[in-house]
Amino acid sequence: MLVCTSCKKEWGEESRPWRCSCGGPLVVGGGVVPFNRGMIRRNEQGMWRYRAALPAGEVCEPVSMGEGWTPLVREPWPGLNLFFKLDYACPTGSYKDRGMAYLVSRIAGLGVREVVEDSSGNAGASMAAYCARAGIGCRIFVPGYTSAGKCVQIESYGGILERVPGSREDTTRAAERAAETTYYGSHNWSPYFAHGVKTFALEIWEQLGFRAPDALLLPAGQGSLVLGCVLAFEALKAAGEIPALPRIYALQPEGCAPLHSAFVKGMDVPDRIEKRETIAEGISSAEPVRGREVLAAVRKSGGAVLSCSDGAIWQGFLALARRGYFVEPTSAIVFPALRQLSERGLLRTGETVAAILTGSGLKGTDKIVALLGH
Ligand SMILES: [Zn+2]
Repeated sequence: MLVCTSCKKEWGEESRPWRCSCGGPLVVGGGVVPFNRGMIRRNEQGMWRYRAALPAGEVCEPVSMGEGWTPLVREPWPGLNLFFKLDYACPTGSYKDRGMAYLVSRIAGLGVREVVEDSSGNAGASMAAYCARAGIGCRIFVPGYTSAGKCVQIESYGGILERVPGSREDTTRAAERAAETTYYGSHNWSPYFAHGVKTFALEIWEQLGFRAPDALLLPAGQGSLVLGCVLAFEALKAAGEIPALPRIYALQPEGCAPLHSAFVKGMDVPDRIEKRETIAEGISSAEPVRGREVLAAVRKSGGAVLSCSDGAIWQGFLALARRGYFVEPTSAIVFPALRQLSERGLLRTGETVAAILTGSGLKGTDKIVALLGH
């Protein structure tokens, strides 16, 4: 059963709604289901070892390429017990594979044969890959500025690529129009996506020896990592596995920071902003669909929303690359954010901190080459 986050109306899953008739986003109903270490399927390697934590996960047939169980790497950082979670090591090169593997598994089970999606690139590439595996036809709408690497991926997997001139929001509107006659599989609207994403947080907890970190750093456009994180840690807390939620620091580029602006003003909904171009294309969302939920989740965790300049993000990209991590510029926002949090005293000496590296640099080489000045 699905529930509207605005008006609380309930919907049967077999009717395949993508949002409520009131316009509100839907979530899977039933509240927090406790999850403990005894429920892990230890003979499964990827994210499906946590299938007991996924709604209907025990009965759904996974559309899978072994996504998940990505490395958690200890990283030297003054005063911190810091770890990088290398989710760019997922099958299509981004953490979106977690959400997509679960989303596509569920819609395949509901009989969907054709899907429309819109994406800044990574989610579209991931959806095209998983739809290819499931035999589902897909049409992916992307903004005209999307990196070549991601477009090549979508077409190679057999997805129909639709480039839309203008903003990310123009892309969404084009996809919604196309979806009037077919299933709209938008990962931002889907009630399933965040549940797949949450497995990254369950992994961090297991890889740290069944301990939650004190704080997490998560790039945030629509905020699915924040929402996934809260789903995971609330399930662990309900089972008595952890005493409290870790602090969540959601990171946005200065050029597009509606959540940051709302956070500092004390607002409950994303602020209306004038969007500027940013090298962090993967988190350039001016109108996050679930922004209210994301802001509430960050506040509940005792964390904050931060913003970083493109200059600082680019320096972060170079610093990460010099440490051996080739990530897309979007992901590099964690580096200047670590500095900012340390300087502001928000990360304390000796704390355990996890930062997720979300997407591979191989997707954005066209833009990286230009930034390197070649
Ligand atoms: Zn509603």
